[in-house]
Formats: sequence, C-alpha cells, structure tokens
Amino acid sequence: MGDRIYLSSPHMSDEGYEKEYVKEAFDSNWIAPVGENVNRFEKELTARVGSKAAAALSTGTAAIHLALKAADVGAGDIVFCPTLTFSATANPIIYQNATPVFIDSNHETWNMCPKALEAAFLKYPDVKAVIVVHLYGLSADMDPIMDICKKHHVPVIEDAAESLGTYYKRKHTGTIGDYGVFSFNGNKIITTSGGGMLVSDQEEKVAKVRFWATQSRDQARHYQHSELGFNYRMSNVLAGIGRGQLKVLDRRVAKKKSIFEFYKRELGELEGVQFMPINGWNEPNYWLSSMTIDSSIRPLELMEALEKENIESRPIWKPMHLQPFFEKYDFVGTDVSEWLFENGVCLPSDTKMKEEDLVRVVETIKKLW
Ligand SMILES: *Cc1c(COP(=O)(O)O)cnc(C)c1O
Repeated sequence: MGDRIYLSSPHMSDEGYEKEYVKEAFDSNWIAPVGENVNRFEKELTARVGSKAAAALSTGTAAIHLALKAADVGAGDIVFCPTLTFSATANPIIYQNATPVFIDSNHETWNMCPKALEAAFLKYPDVKAVIVVHLYGLSADMDPIMDICKKHHVPVIEDAAESLGTYYKRKHTGTIGDYGVFSFNGNKIITTSGGGMLVSDQEEKVAKVRFWATQSRDQARHYQHSELGFNYRMSNVLAGIGRGQLKVLDRRVAKKKSIFEFYKRELGELEGVQFMPINGWNEPNYWLSSMTIDSSIRPLELMEALEKENIESRPIWKPMHLQPFFEKYDFVGTDVSEWLFENGVCLPSDTKMKEEDLVRVVETIKKLW
C-alpha cells in the first residue's frame, strides 16, 4: 500500500523561515504569550489581508468568542449562524449564554443563503449579531448579506477560519464585516499548530479584545480586575511559526488551486459529480477540494474505497441544526445544507501531494464508476 495521503496536513516552508523566527523567540527568551513575534505577526497579517488591526489569540474559537463579546452579545441574545459549518462557529454563542438561530446554505455558494437570512430577520428582528462562514475557502456572497445586516444595523462576524487567502470581489474575506476570524489549527492552509486571529478596522475594539484575552488586567501596580478576563493570547513561539507560514501562503494557495483543477479535469465529467461552486466574484484559497455526488454511488462508498488505499477523505460538515447538542435551536431554511451533507465529500487537498499521489486518488475514484 502507498504512503498515507492526507486531507490537509501542516506544511512548513522549505526555506525554514518558521525555525528562524522560533529561534528568535528562544534567543530573546520571550517564551511567553507576549513578545516581538506576536506583535509582528499581527502587523504582517493585517498588511496581508488589509485590515486596520489584529489580535493574535490561542485559537480561532477564542477569536470567535471575543468577537461576539466585542459585538456586545450576552445572555439571552439571538445570533444568526450558518448551519453548515464546524461546531467551533456555533459553540462560542453558547459560551456567551446567547441563543443561536441556524441559517441554511444555498446551492450557488454552499454558504449562507441571503434569502434565508432575510426570512430569519423577519422572524427575529431583534437579533444581536450575524456570523457568516466561508467554507472550504469559498466565500459567501457578502454584498447581499451585508446589505441586509446594514439595513438592520446588526454587526457581522466573518468566520474566515478556512479562508485565509480567499478574496470576495478583491476584498480579503474577514475584512468585509465588522470582525473577521482566522484559524491556524494544524489542518488549516497555514498553521501555528494551534492559533487564531481576530481582525477589525475598529482599533479600539481590537485593543479591548487584547485586554480581555490577557485576563482583563486594569492599569494598576497590583492585579486589579473590573471585567471578566480570559487567557486567550497567542504564544510568542507559535507566532514565530505563523510569521514564517505567512510568507508561503501564496504558494500554498497556488498549490491548492492546482489540486482542485486536477480533480475537476479528471473527475468533473463522471456521472453525477459536481465540484464546489467557484463564482466569478470569488478567488478562493481552495482549502479543501470538495464535490457532491448525485448518483447511485454514495459518498460513504467512495470514502471507504479511498480509505482502503490509505487515502484520507471526509464528508461535508454535518449541519448544526441536525446535531444532538444544537437541535433544540431554531433553523431557518429548507434542505440545502442537509443535501450537501448527504451528498458531499472533501477530497485530499494536502499541499505536499505529488502528481503520483493525485493520480492514485483519481484512479481509485474512477474505478467506482
Ligand atoms: C477550524 C475552524 C474553526 C476553529 O478554529 P480553531 O483554531 O481550531 O479553534 C472555526 N470555524 C471553522 C469553520 C473552522 O474550520
């Protein structure tokens, strides 16, 4: 059997940039959640995505949590959240004792359906915040979503955990709404092993997020706290990895794109296969190449065939409104995200894959047809 082919695994630069920055952290003894790598990583990321400010945090989940807090979401508040996503998008709503209302996707984008969002506003006019997700590196259709949210004066949090390097109409995802969130977990397009970033053009809000993330320490000689605090800051060692990884982001996007194009060329004509939608206004980062299968061959069969060849693959996210933990919350929409879950599959999109690995994947799949 061939070597394991992964969905998406960490890929450090050939140049060793990450080790250089980590070495700087060691040499300066800033082995702490503070230091020059943290400051620089924030600056370099804001320059890359085009936001005014950023706060480097321990995880993307922590960034979503503090974005909700910055948007003033508290106990009993309603937050609209895409149903088709990873649970990390929705969990922080519960951390704030708020109530999620799940919104369906549309087939055109796989992301939040603007029509369903509009219907949700009619049902819950006093909603406090809206979270939008950019799944698999595809962007949501932000213009109609922003129009609706602006009309109702409701802040928008973009969960761009999977979409670093993705643009919507030449704007970087995460910089269109009021707050944007990135993740540097091990499987993301670039990684610090674990980490997150909150970005916003509201600099005073980002300063507040840094304050909350370091236990809300008031300015005083002694330890003084007038607000609830969190220990959510990113380590200076890991920020060094992030700085090195940011240098190769463009290379990773180019490779992910070539993986997607290879699959589409080789598998796109198979009966019932449809690849994830790439809209004209979207320049994706192609984080995970995903497709749906509308045929007698089922995704589970395909995933099992790949597993037999030591190849990793995954279903599309199971919608939140179908999860045992979240099913008691309301859902607005039809059956689109459920259909995507039942018919979708994410193919290995690891940037370390070679041509022969890609051939192994498509040959295994083609045998089923
Ligand atoms: C990975 C991910 C997160 C969470 O990021 P962590 O850094 O793992 O906490 C949030 N939302 C989505 C859609 C993700 O894929």
